[in-house]
Amino acid sequence: MYLAEITQSVTRLPGVGPAKAREFSRLGVTTIGDLLLHLPRDYENRVEPVSFAEATPERAVNTTATVVAHSYVGRPPRQILKVHIRDDSGLAVLTCFGRNFLARSLPEGKRIRVYGTFQRRFGDLQATAFEFEDADREPRLFDRILPVYPLSGKLSQHDVRTAVATAIQHYLVSPTEELPGWLRDKRALYSTHDAIVRVHRPGSVEEARRARATLVYMELFFLQLGIALRSAGRQTGTRAQRSLPRSMYAQLLAALPYRLTTDQQRVSDEVLSDLESEIPMARLLQGDVGSGKTIVALLSAIPVIEAGMQVALMAPTELLARQHADALSTLLHGAGCDVSLALLSGTVSGTARGELLGAIRTGAVDLVVGTHAVFTSEVEFRNLQYVIIDEQHRFGVLQRLALMNKARQPDLLLMTATPIPRTLALTVFGDMKVSTIRQMPPGRKPVETHLSVHDHASRVYDAVGRELAAGRQAYFVYPVIDDTGKLDLKDAEGMRDHLQREVYPEKAVGLVHSRLSDDEKQTTMEAFRAGRIDVLVATSVVEVGVDVPNATCMVIEHAERFGLAALHQLRGRVGRGSHKSYCFLVYDADLTEIAKERLKAIHRTHDGFEIAEEDLRIRGPGDIIGTQQSGYLRFRVADLARDLEVMNQARHDAFEVVEGDPALTRSANRALSDALKSARRAGRLTPISRRDELIPVEAAEPGAGAVATGDAIARGGDQ
Ligand code: ADP
Ligand code: MG
Repeated sequence: MYLAEITQSVTRLPGVGPAKAREFSRLGVTTIGDLLLHLPRDYENRVEPVSFAEATPERAVNTTATVVAHSYVGRPPRQILKVHIRDDSGLAVLTCFGRNFLARSLPEGKRIRVYGTFQRRFGDLQATAFEFEDADREPRLFDRILPVYPLSGKLSQHDVRTAVATAIQHYLVSPTEELPGWLRDKRALYSTHDAIVRVHRPGSVEEARRARATLVYMELFFLQLGIALRSAGRQTGTRAQRSLPRSMYAQLLAALPYRLTTDQQRVSDEVLSDLESEIPMARLLQGDVGSGKTIVALLSAIPVIEAGMQVALMAPTELLARQHADALSTLLHGAGCDVSLALLSGTVSGTARGELLGAIRTGAVDLVVGTHAVFTSEVEFRNLQYVIIDEQHRFGVLQRLALMNKARQPDLLLMTATPIPRTLALTVFGDMKVSTIRQMPPGRKPVETHLSVHDHASRVYDAVGRELAAGRQAYFVYPVIDDTGKLDLKDAEGMRDHLQREVYPEKAVGLVHSRLSDDEKQTTMEAFRAGRIDVLVATSVVEVGVDVPNATCMVIEHAERFGLAALHQLRGRVGRGSHKSYCFLVYDADLTEIAKERLKAIHRTHDGFEIAEEDLRIRGPGDIIGTQQSGYLRFRVADLARDLEVMNQARHDAFEVVEGDPALTRSANRALSDALKSARRAGRLTPISRRDELIPVEAAEPGAGAVATGDAIARGGDQ
């Protein structure tokens, strides 16, 4: 049985009832297998003695001491017990706030082991939070390295430690090895059983390190193995080199209202030559917001369509899919190109849907633009050849695989406006070629960014008012939809009313957020694009891809609550036309250091690449929540900022294995292919990664900068 197959609920463990199970699930732990992979965030070393004389605020005491006296401070009934103790190096005091009963368990002369952080106060070395046990009995919490777990709600360290201990004892009986022996020997790794046992109760610091390294390696190795296998599959799954017709392409190019930038032209050529090569394309197109990726993608689709094959273009939201479909059909129509384009989204239903699906099946539709609705199994293509995915970080890997499986050896183009820091691009996107558009279309003026504290918001409203008077439009973005009463925040609904009634009574103010129906969202967006709405109040749903060149003001209130990537994306909604544009970041004066750094960074630079690197730097390694939110990675145990070296080893090993044995049929590699298969059956990318949840992105409000995506590991697993 593999670790991932230990799927019994944690409620099976004694002491874990529904309430604790709920707390565990908030930590991502629902099964006992999850619990075994809920790794300590730190350890307390209770093996190495640290005497009172050696104590510092950073260095906890771990010593054996004798109780020498009791004393009390304060007046009854508020008296506080102080227990005076002595070890070989000196004296110290245990201050027992609210725990005067300890006088009985700590009588004079008693010998105890004690652990805690001691600080010098009023001349005495004192601790208020400490653990102790009888020194003359078998140690329970001493003489070992104790795990310290991430907690949630009312869960205590004791709860998690006990649950893990039972899980190890009863459920980790003899787990199947994910890694073959030869590989474990090569990298000095533990067996799965030993890695799990020792990561939770290591005999030494070195053991803990090695146990974690084993699990990190496992996760990264299987990720890289998947990449290596797909890459090998593409090389061998040969098709004939082909040349695609270019007449419609030339027609469209000539009809464009602008000329392509040099970067756009170069990338366009790169993509076309991939499409004609005998190896199916796997390419990542990164370009900052507004750099003009859509047209590049469309142009590249045309020769494939002209050759009689189908193309699918996926966008993460209904809004964006519709915008793409509209823009593309206008372009195609204007150029007189005979391409049949259809929009497939969740809102197309009934007979219309049936007819549309039929047309896709028979090949009457050449270009399908859609949302995650295109992933579903009812959608069948006649000859899908080319898959383009916009804002790729918003999709989970299994979603993308589902789409890729609708075609034989499809070409794949992933587009992203969230630049990927170089280190990650090298590793996570392992087998993909990367094209970059760095240049902006001509005539763009950088967006002028202003910071403003809340108290001065009215000045911002005045500045925006002047733009509106000149015929321009504005976005106002808020972190929450409505007033929940819990947080003291301006909300989108309330501010729509306020802005309409008090601030811009002459102007039309609209509202979009993720809880509106698709129809409502679409109507509002169209009205905004057509200029019937002047001010669009929104949540971060407008973060992705929306393109309205006449909008010149982006006001983000409570800007401190948005992540750096989200701020950059939001700002990218303006500055898309020839008019000068402005971004106003309105923040709360009471800022955390990190929020301050983010606002400074966004104020300082417009370069998405620099912002992405900065984002990683500010959050730093180990900030798992942050990493998840950024949509970069969603590893379970690995942390790329910290484990890059292991990633490189794993990558090297995986590619070596696949090179020598592309189908993993040798007996030495049987274990690998079995483990990989079992993981995929369980809906996971690697034997120890989390499930790749199919979250429809629109359902998840990307509040305060969070980008709830499917999975980001994800990105490594692309075909
Ligand atoms: P993104 O890369 O963020 O997806 P879009 O493809 O939405 O950017 O393009 C942003 C805007 O720039 C669109 O309005 C598009 O028509 C325009 N655009 C794209 N390429 C050029 C160009 N070469 N010259 C002028 N405008 C362009
Ligand atoms: Mg775009």
